[in-house]
Amino acid sequence: MSENEFKDPDPALWAPAEKGPVGQFFAPVAGFGVTLSTMFRPTSTEQYPEEKVPTQARYHGRHHLNRYPDGLERCIGCELCAWACPADAIYVEAGANTPEEQYSPGERFGKVYQINYLRCIFCGYCIQACPTRALTMTNEFELAGPTREGLIYEKQDLLAPMGENMLAAPHPMVPGTSDADYYRGSVTGPVPEQIEWVREHRPDDPTLQNKGA
Ligand code: SF4
Ligand code: SF4
Repeated sequence: MSENEFKDPDPALWAPAEKGPVGQFFAPVAGFGVTLSTMFRPTSTEQYPEEKVPTQARYHGRHHLNRYPDGLERCIGCELCAWACPADAIYVEAGANTPEEQYSPGERFGKVYQINYLRCIFCGYCIQACPTRALTMTNEFELAGPTREGLIYEKQDLLAPMGENMLAAPHPMVPGTSDADYYRGSVTGPVPEQIEWVREHRPDDPTLQNKGA
């Protein structure tokens, strides 16, 4: 027989193991062995939703669009997250920042931002693609709803809550800084010039509270 000629595999490779006399005697009730042994183990049933078990720290839940410490948005509308998404769940439209309406450091901001949670498979490719760490994932997993439209989250649904010291956008960048300074963490909070600008343009803005006279 030549080396390449087909050989039947050994039937013993897939045939069930032969049982001895004891094995044959208990075979009809062998399945109950699993039931009996499980009855004496601690139960692992979770009483959800009455009791919510915390997820693992790196669990992939719903997304957040983050802000810098002075309140400007991190998203620059580059669409890299949308291109990385294998489920085509993200839609982004960029807008141009202007001196009157500066939402993020640099030239552009995410004007329209949507994530369709009917499509999202929580793979995390989008957060890896984001160059400014604008997009991250939280541990929140309760994402059910009565309508399909309600599961398409808009920008206002995805923006992270304002931090205690933040000043709501739009407002100018910290004077003398660039978008790179923001990315490197040089901006640690709003400065008086920004607070003054918001006070002049939006005197009723609630984030002005506790920001000095
Ligand atoms: S987690 Fe995955 S599927 Fe969901 S939006 Fe991001 S890239 Fe798309
Ligand atoms: S979330 Fe990140 S990747 Fe997506 S558009 Fe904004 S900056 Fe770009």
